[in-house]
Amino acid sequence: MFGPRWRALVLETEAMKAAVLHEFKKALVIEEIVRPLPDANEVLIQVEACGVCHSDLHVADGDWPQFTSLTKMPLIPGHEIAGRVVEKGGAVREFQIGDRVGVPWIYWTCGECEFCREGSENLCARQKITGVTVDGGFAEFIKAPASHAVKIPDALSAAQAAPLFCAGVTVYRALKHARISAGQRLAIFGIGGLGHVAVQVGRELGAEVIAVDVADEKLHLAETLGAATCLNAASTNVTKALRANGGVHVALVTSAAKVAYDTAFACVRPAGTLLAVGLPAENISFPPILMAAKEVRIQASAVGTRQDLREVLALAGRGKIHCHVTTHPLSDVNRIMDRLRQGQVPGRVVLFFS
Ligand SMILES: [Zn+2]
Ligand SMILES: [Zn+2]
Repeated sequence: MFGPRWRALVLETEAMKAAVLHEFKKALVIEEIVRPLPDANEVLIQVEACGVCHSDLHVADGDWPQFTSLTKMPLIPGHEIAGRVVEKGGAVREFQIGDRVGVPWIYWTCGECEFCREGSENLCARQKITGVTVDGGFAEFIKAPASHAVKIPDALSAAQAAPLFCAGVTVYRALKHARISAGQRLAIFGIGGLGHVAVQVGRELGAEVIAVDVADEKLHLAETLGAATCLNAASTNVTKALRANGGVHVALVTSAAKVAYDTAFACVRPAGTLLAVGLPAENISFPPILMAAKEVRIQASAVGTRQDLREVLALAGRGKIHCHVTTHPLSDVNRIMDRLRQGQVPGRVVLFFS
């Protein structure tokens, strides 16, 4: 008598809702698809929250030629994932059922190449990328290698934790490597998902944070998060304002606008650092004579390692970083991506699964 009921239950739970990209530049389609089955070394995670990142737009729109050939199709985007382990493979020792974990942009790395062995697994050439080369978190479930899922501190809700898995870890690593000393001036260009976390990390490092954006609403958010100065680039000559104080020690560009790089470069003081994190589709260029005359360091940073992620999660768990999030159901995903395209999202929008 249990046969048919058992089957029905299995059938019910084997399906999941997901937002699927079938073609570049086309809207995502909400579909019922088969739930993934974890292999021996994988966990199945019930997704509770997944941030919507600017990179999701670039991937869905096919903006980055370097990525289009790597992109799985059809694809479930999303790489800021927080949830709970609901099933695990026989070889998984790291996690128990019910553990709260997240999955970042870097889905898997080889662990064997020279970059993995040097502690720079974010540069592993064999890496698999969540929501690009493998399915991501715009879905009720995702399977992931247990080795690369990262535990979420108890103090953080899923919606609070999710943005740290890309936005948070990216700016954390960039600023950590810039070796900012307390009292130094840090200008952050672009106060979106990444920028609003960067303001808080900069503040924790003791920097004097200057927020630059073209939206007053975002600058207001930066102010509440601890920025000492907020400059609207649409109405202020940012270069003049920052140079009047001797320029900045570090200019972190999280914006995907080329003009933000042009301005940021002009604002860096001699021996200062331009930190490249935001990814415009166009090339950026600077006059070599000015680069040499100022001995400007140009440093790029790509997401972060699992260790960077554990550090930024711990910082947030201690209340030092608070993500400004608004939650929406999965069915809103296309509307949210459009708002993100138009630069209308302060903080982070997180898809929330009840
Ligand atoms: Zn991202
Ligand atoms: Zn590797």
